[in-house]
Amino acid sequence: MYHCVQELDLNESTYEYLKEPFRFIEVSFPLKTDSGEVKFLKGYRSQHNNALGPYKGGIRFHPEVTVEETKALSMWMTLKCALVGVPFGGGKGGVVCDPRSMSMREKERVSREYIRSMGNFLGPQIDIPAPDVYTDAQVMAWMADEYSNIKQQPAFGVVTGKPLPVGGCIGREEATSRGCVYAVKEAANILNIPLDGARVVIQGAGNVGIHAARLLDYAGAKIIAISDSRGGVINQEGLDVNQVYHHKKKTGALKGFEGGDAVEAWEIFDLDCEIMIPAAMEKQITEKNAGSIKAKIIAEGANGPTTPEADKILKDRGVLVIPDILANAGGVTVSYFEWVQNNYGFQWNQGKVNQQLEQKITDAFRMAYDFIQNRTEIDMRTGAYMYAIRRLAEAMEYRGWL
Ligand code: GLU
Repeated sequence: MYHCVQELDLNESTYEYLKEPFRFIEVSFPLKTDSGEVKFLKGYRSQHNNALGPYKGGIRFHPEVTVEETKALSMWMTLKCALVGVPFGGGKGGVVCDPRSMSMREKERVSREYIRSMGNFLGPQIDIPAPDVYTDAQVMAWMADEYSNIKQQPAFGVVTGKPLPVGGCIGREEATSRGCVYAVKEAANILNIPLDGARVVIQGAGNVGIHAARLLDYAGAKIIAISDSRGGVINQEGLDVNQVYHHKKKTGALKGFEGGDAVEAWEIFDLDCEIMIPAAMEKQITEKNAGSIKAKIIAEGANGPTTPEADKILKDRGVLVIPDILANAGGVTVSYFEWVQNNYGFQWNQGKVNQQLEQKITDAFRMAYDFIQNRTEIDMRTGAYMYAIRRLAEAMEYRGWL
């Protein structure tokens, strides 16, 4: 990031503003398990920068959540919101727990406890959480309800990604994937790759991966492989994505899916394909596997899936990497639409959501791409960072921070 500030010839303090979150909150709260045991869980919220508006970003429930990861993810949110031009700053939260081994009731208690201990730092004009890894619309509904209880009034705008009856936005669930597909379309156009028949490999069968598979399948592409944390499934003729979706929904895993060959999760990275979508966790494409990736386009559905070393290798090999802050910005963009609708008490239709989302993502794509024209030394990630940082610096300058 420092080199972006230098390249842009910005005030050096811009970097100081971005390198650390403004505020980091750590709480510890009890979870009474179904068996009556009391366990203490750690909860975090990182409020990185609010130059452009209230802090915004998801809350993940995952056993590997750490302070450092939460801070880094909140910084990416600041850049992401600036890049797509939504009036939010960056935030991120997490609870160290494993929801895969928790009952619905336990998950509800964790969601409510998180808001009870963190509620004072959140608010529709302060900091607005949303779903992330292993959290979903139901978790958001519990959080909105708990917050409304504390405030003694319905205050659903405190979180986004809610179910429709409690102020959710049509299309929010698949928004991250839809945005990713719009970005892939732009990239495919530039590289003259027809989407019709293009072979796609997807890592991750959570919300982002599974909907990306469905939308790309719908657009005519061929999903030849998909994986989750336990393994992958390959079918060179193209997977029946709807069947994959229902199998995953029913069993909670891809394992046992009969419409393709079962492989180890890492094996999908070596496959011949045009498009690859890492939509799982951080640091999945490293210097170890970057050299054998055959995709022409990588669209980062996850946050931070590519290490800096891998980035270099991919750039040298001419792979177009659509960075996370662009490729997965569809989620926060539709979160913004949801927040707007909550603020003025109105519901948009699907057509309006999709059209506005497409506009935001394609505009951001072109801005980042324009930045790298005639500058072979920088990649799309750097272009996206530079555009976002310039926008942030402008806001900070006007606000008198610089
Ligand atoms: N968790 C998503 C992200 O990383 C969505 C955040 C939001 O909607 O606020 O972009």
